[in-house]
Amino acid sequence: MKRREFVRRVGRTALGAGALSLGFSAGCGRRPIRNWVWVHGGRERSGDEWRLRFAKIREAGIGAVLVSGGDLDTLAGAAHAEGLQFHRWIWTLNRSGDQWVKENHPEWFTVSRNGDSTLEKPPYVGYYQWLCPTRRPVRAYLRRVVDEIASDPSVDGVHLDYVRHSDVILPIGLWEKYGLVQDREHPEFDFCYCEVCRDTFRSRTGTDPLELPDPTTDVAWREFRWEGVTQLVGELADAVHGRNKTISAAVFPTPTLARTLVRQAWEQWPLDAVFPMLYHEFYRESVAWIGSAAAEGIAALPPSRPLYAGLFVPSLPPAELAEAVRVARDGGAAGVALFEMDGLTDEHLARFAAAARNG
Ligand SMILES: [Zn+2]
Repeated sequence: MKRREFVRRVGRTALGAGALSLGFSAGCGRRPIRNWVWVHGGRERSGDEWRLRFAKIREAGIGAVLVSGGDLDTLAGAAHAEGLQFHRWIWTLNRSGDQWVKENHPEWFTVSRNGDSTLEKPPYVGYYQWLCPTRRPVRAYLRRVVDEIASDPSVDGVHLDYVRHSDVILPIGLWEKYGLVQDREHPEFDFCYCEVCRDTFRSRTGTDPLELPDPTTDVAWREFRWEGVTQLVGELADAVHGRNKTISAAVFPTPTLARTLVRQAWEQWPLDAVFPMLYHEFYRESVAWIGSAAAEGIAALPPSRPLYAGLFVPSLPPAELAEAVRVARDGGAAGVALFEMDGLTDEHLARFAAAARNG
């Protein structure tokens, strides 16, 4: 182990308790949360049925749920009754489900290098409709969205998803599915060339990004879009922290991949935890890659910031899930997050519980 890495690991151990008490320990005297699960809350279930599901995952060693949709009171009540933390999982810049924005602010949506809005011509799939993080009214609007969620006493934290640009390059494992070869940034997948972005960049550098000799290789233009997302996250973190709640995000696997594929510079974000989606098959990688990718993220993050390895259950039969938990921990992850609860079989949970206990 290199000295720097060793110091970093020791530092993490020493800092762990203090950092985690910010919100990720489930109460006085209890162990910090190590494992999480994403939950699609929109499924038709009664409070008792949710409680039964949550009891099973708690028994397997999971301490918190990241829940999208569904009835907040029912879901949060069931989670808390089973001793789980309840975090609200939301779509952030992808607002395909936000009718109000679509009807009232079509100009807020990102624009491709070809001049097409994601509202009118979404790339790849119909729901790829993205807001532009450069625009101040967009930031103010999303700030209100997260503030309202965080203001609810039953919510322990806000978990951001889709806090990025549309994929300028898809993970390599998806190229075939979409019939694409994305060995460079193609104009129809390259965003945001909206008027506000063009004006802001021009006032800063003197150049309209559409007039750059090659926008795909211009460092300042690339950084401009990383910064837009980073500044938005900073404002959302302020709002959530103002409510004394925690904020985290699901992000692309490594800092390098995240910057290259979706313009996320997540190691710079002022979050309480990050959840890189280490979905190895999307990148044609092995289970062992989960550990090396986690280590890459940890090396880039401030030492006090926990990283939880996001695991894609459909790619992991039970024995491999247990292996993924081990390699993630060996890579330095504080724990794992499983996508998603309903994909977990009893055998998955049994193998997971054994691996989690031995960690
Ligand atoms: Zn824009």
